[in-house]
Amino acid sequence: MLQDVKTAAVSKESRNQHDYHILRKYEVLQCGPVEKLIKKREHAEETPMYFVTIEETFDVLRASHIATGHGGRDRMMKEIKKKYANISVQAIELFKSLCLECQKKRTRPKTTGVVVRPILTKDFSCRGQVDLVDMQSMSCNGYKII
Ligand SMILES: [Zn+2]
Repeated sequence: MLQDVKTAAVSKESRNQHDYHILRKYEVLQCGPVEKLIKKREHAEETPMYFVTIEETFDVLRASHIATGHGGRDRMMKEIKKKYANISVQAIELFKSLCLECQKKRTRPKTTGVVVRPILTKDFSCRGQVDLVDMQSMSCNGYKII
């Protein structure tokens, strides 16, 4: 696509409908030695919106997921929309669903329902609880339990 845009830009006399279409939609941004395909800007000072290749998509998704603190779909989308033009909601959802950290968080064991039979009391401080430490193997003056 990048090559198509460059070719269409230089072929001023022989442009076809496709050339006009891609020139309305895309722009090539020179970043040092690297050429990047970006969304056509109205003004040169507009923030460039990058089109990422399929190979770059994973890294962009991961960076946005980490930057948002393992953020969900909407937070990732907001982050990605600042800079990238062609990352779909489906890709974000897929990435999020496969993140191991997020899966760990989601499958945390439930702590509710552990108390099978609660101990009921009628008054404040009418019950106590003592932990016993068995010291039989190191008894002291006949005392064997703390
Ligand atoms: Zn995550």
